Amino acid sequence: MNKFLGLVLVLLTALLLSSCGSSSSTSPPEDPSTIESTTTAPTTTSSTTTTIARHSLSGKVIAIDAGHNGGNAAHSADINQLVDAGNGVTKACDTSGTASNEGYAEYEFTLSVSKDLQALLQAQGATVVMVRTDSAGWGPCITQRAKIGNDAHADIAISIHGDGNDSAGTRGFHVLVPQTTNVNAAIAPASNRFGTLLRDSFVTTGMPVSNYLGTNGIMPRGDLGGLNLSTVPKVFIECGNMRNATDASMMRSGTFQQSAAAAIDAAIVQFLN
Ligand SMILES: [Zn+2]
Repeated sequence: MNKFLGLVLVLLTALLLSSCGSSSSTSPPEDPSTIESTTTAPTTTSSTTTTIARHSLSGKVIAIDAGHNGGNAAHSADINQLVDAGNGVTKACDTSGTASNEGYAEYEFTLSVSKDLQALLQAQGATVVMVRTDSAGWGPCITQRAKIGNDAHADIAISIHGDGNDSAGTRGFHVLVPQTTNVNAAIAPASNRFGTLLRDSFVTTGMPVSNYLGTNGIMPRGDLGGLNLSTVPKVFIECGNMRNATDASMMRSGTFQQSAAAAIDAAIVQFLN
């Protein structure tokens, strides 16, 4: 029963996404009735949805920053070097990130969701710039993570993370957005608009809104170099609290990772159309 309901939800989401993308795309709008008339089998449904979606992000550039890296912990001197955080202070190049109690690392989670998201975006015709595509090395530093999105003139940039809060009962996701009064105020309005879309979309993953940080899942931050140094609209998302057993068990599942990527993709499609 649950599997059936899940399939229905996935199909409904796919149809909603394709109709959103086509209705406001610059390419000739797809008629939803065309979808119906050509949907004769499950395989046709899938390919039809992909074909329509492929046009919805054509010409758009998205930067995906998978938080941390697999080699960070082994390169502490490199990772602890102080770099410009964009707000007049220096900050460590990066950190090694958190991990679940069972040892599932944040850098693994962030890369998995990032790759799922990359595939979804590319299938819709977007140009995707990845800060990293494996977990073999260390870094890059927060300065470089911002620069990659800036140099690509990304239409939107997203940094994907999992939080590590050890206080009992703390769980849920939250979106980090630029402060409107900070050095990055110029990108704050667009970033906040995207952040709200992302918050609303991400609840569909089943991960609750954070019960310990932010307000209704949104938290303005002025101390993050990755936001301060960005010249393109950008947010961070902490997809859950990896130190919480319930969140961690969701976050290590491929099903949740794929639905997280789909939720981020849906927000991007809404934001860019
Ligand atoms: Zn992180």
